Amino acid sequence: MSRLVMKFGGTSVATLDRIRRAAKRVGREVANGHEVIVIVSAMAGKTNELVGWVNETSPFYDAREYDAVVSSGENVTAGLMALTLQEMDVPARSWQGWQVPVQTTGAHGAARIEAIPTANLDARFADGMKVAVIAGFQGISPEGRITTLGRGGSDTTAVAFAAAFDAVRCDIYTDVDGVYTTDPRITSKARKLDRIAFEEMLELASLGAKVLQTRSVELAMRYGVKLRVLSSFDEYDETAGTLVCQEDEIVENNVVSGVAYSRDEAKMTLLNVDDKPGIAAAIFGPLAEAGVNVDMIVQNISEGGQTDMTFSCPIDQVKRATQAMEGAKASGGIAYTDLVADTEVAKVSVVGIGMRSHTGVAAHMFKALRDENVNIKVITTSEIKISVLIDRKYMELAVQALHDTFGLEKLGGGLES
Ligand code: ADP
Ligand code: ASP
Ligand code: MG
Repeated sequence: MSRLVMKFGGTSVATLDRIRRAAKRVGREVANGHEVIVIVSAMAGKTNELVGWVNETSPFYDAREYDAVVSSGENVTAGLMALTLQEMDVPARSWQGWQVPVQTTGAHGAARIEAIPTANLDARFADGMKVAVIAGFQGISPEGRITTLGRGGSDTTAVAFAAAFDAVRCDIYTDVDGVYTTDPRITSKARKLDRIAFEEMLELASLGAKVLQTRSVELAMRYGVKLRVLSSFDEYDETAGTLVCQEDEIVENNVVSGVAYSRDEAKMTLLNVDDKPGIAAAIFGPLAEAGVNVDMIVQNISEGGQTDMTFSCPIDQVKRATQAMEGAKASGGIAYTDLVADTEVAKVSVVGIGMRSHTGVAAHMFKALRDENVNIKVITTSEIKISVLIDRKYMELAVQALHDTFGLEKLGGGLES
């Protein structure tokens, strides 16, 4: 019998009524002949509340206890979803991550799934169970402790189950009806994409489009999981939503296919570091050891053997980065006159496979930002993306301007090919 994975995000299970609506969709897929694995998130806002409680209790918390608390939201929705299905006479049972078990690394708060043994659930399906409801976002470490997969991690649970159980498709039900050219909350001109290539989705997700967790796209790409994003509120339709697929399954697309943003960035500058071999290693080694996710890096022109080194990182890692740099300075690993943190920045990026064969995309982007008087602080590029760091107050303006200038509102718009 064919297996289907259906994942419901926080807004899709925010109330008992919405859980009922989601369960009806699951019931319909069971009636269509599928065995269904349902992955649920916590009710909308619950995880934020739990994170807040942890921070209030213990600012420099023990990550193992963070996971114990923060994973709990999903336990509630998993049980409620199973009960709702049972009320509808659909044979269903819930599992928490450790019960499956979803085996992960021991990196608390950002664990990676290593294996999902299938025997347990397979036996239950063979016994007549029709739906296995799994608490998303959580697993168990090699030490036997509860772990979580990072914010948005239920998407990754869903794709990992789809790969492990060889599902025909992994449907991600959320509060938008698909993947758009940019976050539809930023501009009403955002256009829904029928299809998007794995690589583009991977870039958009890692650059801030939180509609899918980055790791979920990575896994789908690696294991060839058919991944679809669709709304849990719209009427059901076989062709609804956005299919994340191979590049060669897409007939036509714009040069730039999407604009992403990340609000929670910080820019840090070390003033007057020595410009000599080994300096980058002496700075970024301690940052890596402290678990700082360094993103963009710029080294300024050297004057009199001294230079300034700038890097960006998530805003909630500024304290950790500062500690690491002060520690390296105190132990004589590096010397600098000052460390300046700018916590009022955001990153805006354009993404598109078309950039591989089109020149001038960067120039076009910079012109559009100039026309809006937006100053660029740092730039990075890769084969299919260009990112800039700008003042956060201009973030929405920049996203809208770039969406316009690359003609994303309509298919075939934008740069001449
Ligand atoms: P869920 O709780 O269902 O996991 P999320 O809030 O994690 O939902 O992700 C859905 C949200 O992602 C949307 O409400 C939307 O604001 C945001 N988003 C950001 N970029 C995009 C994009 N390019 N396309 C669609 N949604 C996007
Ligand atoms: N509830 C978790 C979060 O809010 C996981 C998820 O929803 O994917 O990050
Ligand atoms: Mg999400």
